Amino acid sequence: MQPGFRRSRAAFGVLAAVALLACGPRTRAAGDTPAASPPAARASASGAERSAPGIAPFAAGASAGPADPAPDPAWAGPAPRTSSGFRNPGMAETEPRWGALLRWQWQRLLSGLPRDVPGGWHPAVLQPDLEPFRARRPEPRIVWLGHDTFLLAVGGTLVMTDPQLSERAGPLSFIGPRRRVPVPVAVGALPHVDIVVISHDHYDHLDRATVLGLNAQAGGPPLFLVPLGAGAWMRGQGIGNVRELDWWDSVNARGLKVVFVPARHFSGRTPFAVNRSLWGGWIVDHPTFRFYFAGDTGYGPLFREIGRRFAPIDLAAIPIGSYEPRWFMSPMHVDPEEAVRIHLDVGARRSVGMHWGTFQLTDEALDEPPKALARALAAARLPAGAFFTMGFGEVRQFAPRPAAPVASGAAEREAR
Ligand code: ZN
Ligand code: ZN
Repeated sequence: MQPGFRRSRAAFGVLAAVALLACGPRTRAAGDTPAASPPAARASASGAERSAPGIAPFAAGASAGPADPAPDPAWAGPAPRTSSGFRNPGMAETEPRWGALLRWQWQRLLSGLPRDVPGGWHPAVLQPDLEPFRARRPEPRIVWLGHDTFLLAVGGTLVMTDPQLSERAGPLSFIGPRRRVPVPVAVGALPHVDIVVISHDHYDHLDRATVLGLNAQAGGPPLFLVPLGAGAWMRGQGIGNVRELDWWDSVNARGLKVVFVPARHFSGRTPFAVNRSLWGGWIVDHPTFRFYFAGDTGYGPLFREIGRRFAPIDLAAIPIGSYEPRWFMSPMHVDPEEAVRIHLDVGARRSVGMHWGTFQLTDEALDEPPKALARALAAARLPAGAFFTMGFGEVRQFAPRPAAPVASGAAEREAR
């Protein structure tokens, strides 16, 4: 390969990666009125389950707020609309932050960022035993396949989150951040997946090759649950078994109730189509196990609203990576300390860190998020086991709790 070509290809890849990050939401300084006017009745009729007993209030940060706060109406309704798509409550319509992007890139150049792992990043990659998944054993079980890709089995139903098993997180096979850890399982070697949930359309979460692979799986395509506005792209790929959901909408499928919940983030697969589709997280609810998948998100009062409706959560998957520099990333990506606040706000019995170690998207070293998470847990006086990280390809099994009614926090109306 010609050095010049290699250089320009690398530059193009970096540009493709950061272009989307540059379009993050900016906080509005003044005159900030949430456009969402949620029906109060919906929020108050949600069953109002309270935080899990035994979860200590988070005392380390003033902004964490009271342990049992009033609901925040700004996040309690459907996602606020704009003329072309969606926005976060309390934030202006998204405008490209080109100046901030250039400042970040200039700082990176001057400071030699992103940071490397001394000696290189060579974590162990396990070959997971997928037989219990294939056998559809009823007890809750997850396997981490890197980044935000989990396969969850609960009650004999298999759910996959943000499937990304490609070599790059980009629009083409040779553009975008390169995978830094091999995939533990190829998409063709997976057991039959029943439901796929997609948090938003960024390339590290919605990967064309992986969703096409799942759509072509033996035994028929899974049900793809996607944010409002993302269905057209899916159908354009020839994927037809798709449902689009707004925040708090739900779908009942294969013994599960799956609810789309808010996140503070943005969307777009090109800088010219930002926030046309929605973003969010997912509650996967079974009578014996409630799972929360947070997607990509900045911190905000939305998590107390999620906790008010769905606590206690048996397992929460919360992002802990892609957070530096904070001045640029904080509106759209939490750091590990904020991830611990989310863990507490949503009333999670235990949480697992995700969105780290797989693609280098930001300045911190690939191995830094778990170390920062350990410091944040210690500062919050939480045991390490309350919020853990998993190895690539690692499987964990959980004890099902006694059967309880599925969550009532979702909107009454079904997803469209
Ligand atoms: Zn994203
Ligand atoms: Zn991401």
